[in-house]
Order: sequence, then structure tokens, then C-alpha cells
Amino acid sequence: MKTRDKNRTSDAIVVGGGLIGLATAWELREAGASVTVLEKESPGCGASRVAAGMLAPIGELDFGEPELLAMNLKSRELYPDFVGKIESETGLDTGYRNCGALHVALDRDESGELKRIMELQQSHGLDSKWLGPMAARDLEPGISPSLAGAVLVEEDAVVDPRALVEALRAGLSGRGVRIEISEATGLVLEGDRVIGVETPAGTFGAGAVVAAPGAEAGIAPWLPEEVRPPVRPVKGQVVELGGDPEDPACQRILGSERVYIAPRPDGRVILGATVEEMGFDQRVTGGGIHELLREAYRLLPDVAEMEFLGATAGLRPGTPDNLPVIGRTEIEGLILATGHYRNGILLAPVTAKSVAGLIGGEEPGAIGAASPHRFEREE
Ligand SMILES: Cc1cc2nc3c(=O)[nH]c(=O)nc-3n(C[C@H](O)[C@H](O)[C@H](O)COP(=O)(O)OP(=O)(O)OC[C@H]3O[C@@H](n4cnc5c(N)ncnc54)[C@H](O)[C@@H]3O)c2cc1C
Repeated sequence: MKTRDKNRTSDAIVVGGGLIGLATAWELREAGASVTVLEKESPGCGASRVAAGMLAPIGELDFGEPELLAMNLKSRELYPDFVGKIESETGLDTGYRNCGALHVALDRDESGELKRIMELQQSHGLDSKWLGPMAARDLEPGISPSLAGAVLVEEDAVVDPRALVEALRAGLSGRGVRIEISEATGLVLEGDRVIGVETPAGTFGAGAVVAAPGAEAGIAPWLPEEVRPPVRPVKGQVVELGGDPEDPACQRILGSERVYIAPRPDGRVILGATVEEMGFDQRVTGGGIHELLREAYRLLPDVAEMEFLGATAGLRPGTPDNLPVIGRTEIEGLILATGHYRNGILLAPVTAKSVAGLIGGEEPGAIGAASPHRFEREE
């Protein structure tokens, strides 16, 4: 290289302007580093644009992923301060609300499964509570009268990922962080060390590079094969409905076995989401929308009266064990921050803080189980 252009040299480059990349740039700047973000299309155009924004570490609990639960809980704990600082610096609302979640069983079979999940949650010392049909409808009068029971998780929260992306863009710009619309096409190496990133617009130099390209990480040609993580795209479709903020369709996140409904402060709700192994296909399909509307109607019949605002699809960055891939690689100075699958909005604060810490020489801490090296051990 070396680029002598001061405008093109920073302490760190973040490749990917999704929520993970932008949040990481924010925390790096907070730690005093100069940062450049490289985004090939527009910030927040990937999965972060589509996500419902549920911050539901407990609601999402499933068998076999205690490390993920620990990371999720840590990140939810960081959320209020994370968004609080962004909101106060920019004056923008991120849609963060500590609204709680109600997981509803619509028949006896679902009730058995929901009770099992609640017991699992409680065995982890988590706070969830069984409610009978009347108690559940007292909290959320719009839900189906034929429900069999529900689990209340008061600590679950929600954020509007698009609003959060916009606030982060404004906050980063206010802090002097440049977001270059340019595609990373290669790494510049000096021995075993990364010293920059190549783009069609020229080379950008930095002492550290954070790779946060979302679902494309597994096929990213600019990442040398030996450090490319086993990330695959997992398609998800969502439907957006408009409602009255003075008389919202629901106060909390509502979930059933087949659909969730995430409320927004302006009365909208997001219905999500399909989970489809379709490669990089991002088409919105009739079948996908039909399934979401049908299941949302079973859960909250009032959706029938809401305005249809649109439907979108996005690609979750999935990994073989559902844990993200965050950490140092064998290329010195290159850090991966991807593979967040269904929890990337929730995991943004812990990822961002941990990556900033790693670049500052700290140990992985809360994200230790997400190390990229775990896949090498499997070979
Ligand atoms: C339907 C759906 C619902 C979801 N709901 C939730 C939820 O409720 N809660 C939750 O926590 N998570 C949810 N998720 C998951 C969450 O959206 C993702 O985990 C998260 O957005 C991943 O963020 P990211 O920044 O890694 O990826 P992305 O948002 O996809 O961003 C990656 C960015 O990198 C850019 N890029 C890629 N390659 C390059 C390159 N070579 N050079 C420059 N830029 C590049 C892309 O253009 C893109 O902007 C959902 C996902 C989907 C699809």
C-alpha cells in the first residue's frame, strides 16, 4: 500500500454498515479510535432493515444454547444505556420500549409446549409467569378469546431497527465517523497483519479491520478462505401493518408457535417471520405473506382491520451452531463480527463493546463462546 492520504487512514475500518457494523463503529469511536465504515449499498440495507427488533433473550430460549442465552442477557442489560446515549446525542427516538412479551398458546397442544419452554426458562432462573386465558386477555384484550394460556415475560423489550440505524448514522456523523459507500474487494496484508482494505475507489488504511458483512460473510471473496466463517443466509419475510398509536392493537410483543407481532410506538405492528433455507433469494412470496397474516389473525383477530403497509424479506446470517462469530482471526488485526442469525439486533451492544475491547487489547469476556476458532476444532 501505503496510502498517504490522511483522509483514507484511520485506526479502524468496519466493513458493513448494518446494525452490527454501525454499533461497532460507535463503540470504537467512544473508545477514542478514528473509524471509517465501508458500506457497499446503503447503511442498514441488509437484515437490519427487515428485523422486527425484538429484544427477547428469554422468549427465544431454546434447548442447547446456554452460551447464546448468556450473551443475549448481557446484551439486553446493555441496551438501555446503549440507546440512551445515542438518543440523547442525536435527539432521535430509536423506538426502544421496555414493553414485555406475551407468548400465547392457542390450543392444548401449544399449551403443553409453551409450559415446557416456561419451565426451561425458570430452570435458568429466568423470570416468566404462566397466565390463564382471562388474565392474559386482561393484559391484551385483542388476543384470540379461544387461547389456552400464555406466558408473560415482563423483561422483554423492543426497538425499531430502522430508527436505530438512522440514529446511529446521525450519531456517527456527529462524532466525525465517515461512512464511505464503497465495497470491500480485498484486504491489504503486510506479512500476517492486515493494514488496509481495497475498494474500487482505492485503498483505505487502518491498524484494525472489523468484518461485519452479515449474511454474505460465508461467500465474501475479499476475506481469505482460511478466515471466512461458515455463515449461510436464512431468509425471513415480515409484514408491516399500520394502526392507531392512540389505540394500539397490542401493548406488548405477542407470540404464538408460528408468528410474532412486534409493536411500534407509532401504532404499526411487524408480523414475523418465516424461516427459509433459500440461499440468497430475497423475494417476498404469496405463501410467506399468507402464512404470516393467517397466523397473526389467529393470534390477534384485530389485524384484519389494520392497514397493509408492505412486506419485505431479509437474510439472517446463520451459523452451524446458531451462535454468532465474533473474535480475532489468524490474520493479525482482522476481527470477525457476524453470524448473529435471529438475534443480531439484540446482540448489537455486546458485540460492539466486545469488539472495541478486543481492538483495545482486552480478552473476549462475554463473547468468548462466539470465537471464530471454534470451527477449526471441529475439523
Ligand atoms: C425477518 C427477520 C426478522 C428478524 N428479527 C429479529 C429480531 O426481532 N431481533 C433480533 O435481535 N434480530 C432479528 N433478526 C436478525 C437480525 O436482523 C440480524 O441478525 C442482524 O440484522 C445482522 O446485522 P448485520 O449488521 O450483521 O447484517 P446486515 O444488516 O445484513 O448488514 C450487513 C451489511 O454489510 C454490507 N456489506 C456486505 N458485504 C460488503 C462489502 N464487501 N463491502 C461493504 N459492505 C458490505 C451489506 O450491504 C449490509 O449493509 C431478524 C432478521 C430477519 C431477516
